[in-house]
Amino acid sequence: MEIRIQGVSKAYVSGGNLIKALDNVDLIIPANHIFTLLGPSGCGKTTLLRCIVGLETPDVGEISIGGEVVWSKQKNISIPTEKRGLGMVFQTYAIWPHMNVFDNVAYPLQIRGLSKAEIRQRVAKTLDFVHLAGFEKRPATKLSGGQQQRVALARALVAEPKVILFDEPLSNLDAKLREETRKELRTFLTELKITAVYVTHDRVEALALSDTIAIMREGRIIELGDPKKIYFDAQHRFVADFIGRANLIKATVRSQEGEHTVVDCALGAITCAQHDAPVGSEVTLCIRPEFIQLAKGAAGGTNVVNGRIDSLIFVGEAYETEIRVGEELLLAKIEPDANLAVGSEVSFTLDPAHCLLLSI
Ligand code: ATP
Repeated sequence: MEIRIQGVSKAYVSGGNLIKALDNVDLIIPANHIFTLLGPSGCGKTTLLRCIVGLETPDVGEISIGGEVVWSKQKNISIPTEKRGLGMVFQTYAIWPHMNVFDNVAYPLQIRGLSKAEIRQRVAKTLDFVHLAGFEKRPATKLSGGQQQRVALARALVAEPKVILFDEPLSNLDAKLREETRKELRTFLTELKITAVYVTHDRVEALALSDTIAIMREGRIIELGDPKKIYFDAQHRFVADFIGRANLIKATVRSQEGEHTVVDCALGAITCAQHDAPVGSEVTLCIRPEFIQLAKGAAGGTNVVNGRIDSLIFVGEAYETEIRVGEELLLAKIEPDANLAVGSEVSFTLDPAHCLLLSI
């Protein structure tokens, strides 16, 4: 089901200050999509999610789910949470510790008064789906973190919601389990063909899990796109910086040359992917660390830059190194078998396709 958010604002007064948690948010979340709200702490992600759920009342605007208005200031509509047909999974697993797995998952159906037989059949189907068949009698607290999170997911899914909402559901899991669980979650959600709204401040989680990412800042959605677009083709400096490690270098447009834009910056004249900024204007050159290619021998051609290795850290699958070029210190990710030492003079090349220009 599609979710439409139109002109939604929400302000709080706290300690005498007015906080614009949501500032005129317009957003369409397509049906059967994994849609992630990503942004730094305090940017309004949870407030937006809570407004969709109905746990928070916006000041103005309208929210519709599947074509039905669930909240509208102007139309004086406010459908309560339990009638919005949503499932929710939160950071704290919110499973009941005194119940076993079956009872935890059955609970939403019991309060609806379904028959015992139907409850048994639907719980079995859902536990099977989240790979917890056979765990019915286990006390919920005697499960691993990942299993507990799957119980929480099963409980959200058992009532067959039209939309499922997640608020940082994996943040209590350790790094390895988080990686496994997010892979599983993507598979589950894709198979289910359900609209999922996912809140996180973890960029890798957002990139790995989402069909669409909306980047939020100070109560506003500032950019929206699929993970590759957000990562490779961000429009804002803030987004390019937030979504991954990036070298952001001040530059001035020197010329427009066919498919490319050439800029002057601390690295010299750099040929970049085309950008429509006029000649002479100030821009930001964005280069991801993984696109800095060390030249093996004498390098020639486009965008050859000389520098010196300033720091070198071996992280297993790569070296993370800082290369000094004049006043600029560039973060680079280099193959782990490279023969490097701090202080070595190096040449590297930059593929123009990966030299992204940002106007702000
Ligand atoms: P985090 O990632 O840290 O959970 P968030 O992006 O989810 O952050 P919100 O929880 O939506 O951010 O908060 C947005 C802003 O509104 C913050 O400045 C927060 O301090 C403020 N805020 C949220 N709830 C309240 C409240 N009940 N009273 C006062 N201010 C609030």
